Amino acid sequence: MLFFFNILADVLFPKRCVGCERYGAWWCQSCYKSVTLHTVQDASTPPSDSVLKTVWVAASYDQESLQRALHAFKYQFVTALAKPLGGLMVDFCKSTASAGMQADMIVAVPLFYKRERWRGFNQAQLLAQAVGHHRNLSVVPALKRQVSTRPQVGLDAPARRLNVQGAFICPNPAVVAGRRVLLVDDVISTGSTLAACAEALYQAGAVRVEAFVLTKN
Ligand SMILES: [Zn+2]
Repeated sequence: MLFFFNILADVLFPKRCVGCERYGAWWCQSCYKSVTLHTVQDASTPPSDSVLKTVWVAASYDQESLQRALHAFKYQFVTALAKPLGGLMVDFCKSTASAGMQADMIVAVPLFYKRERWRGFNQAQLLAQAVGHHRNLSVVPALKRQVSTRPQVGLDAPARRLNVQGAFICPNPAVVAGRRVLLVDDVISTGSTLAACAEALYQAGAVRVEAFVLTKN
C-alpha cells in the first residue's frame, strides 16, 4: 500500500533538483558533486574574544547549488535535503581536512521552541544526527535557547554578539561536565551564535568546545 502511495506521491509531487531543476531527486548527484569541500581546516578564526577552540567548515559557500539547497532546506522545509547536506559534512569528516577534530559528544545549536514549531524541525539537529551517526557519537540536547532573539541576518558583528548574549543555557550541566563537545550548526557568519553556545557549555563544565558547520557565508 505504501509502495503505491509513494508512486502516487512521485507522480503528483515529482522530485525536482533544487540546484538545476532536473527531475528525479531533490538535489541531484552532479549538483552535489559541484560543491567544493574544504581540503584544509578553514583558516577563518572565530572572533578574537570567542571561547571557541576551532571552527571546522565543511564546504565552500561559493557554489550556487549549495546556497539553493540550504535555502530550500531551511525555508521551503525540504527535510529530505538533510541527507545530502549532512552527507557533505560526513564527507568532510572522512577527509584528512578534519584530522584533529576532538569530541566525546555532539550538541546541535538549538532554535527557540516557537521557531522550531514553526519550521517543524531544527536544521542543525538533522545535520548533527548525520555527523553523530558517522562518528558514532550521541547527539545530546544539552543546550536550550531561552529567549527569542532577532534573526541575525542584517545585523553587524557587535550587534549580533549583543543579540545572542546569554540566549543559551545548559539546563542540565552534568551531561556536558568534563566532556569535549562538538557544536554543530548549518552556517557560521560572524560566529557570535556559536560563541554564545560555547560560553554556556563551558559554564556547565565542558572541557573543550569545537564548532563544526556545513558552510560559512
Ligand atoms: Zn541538480
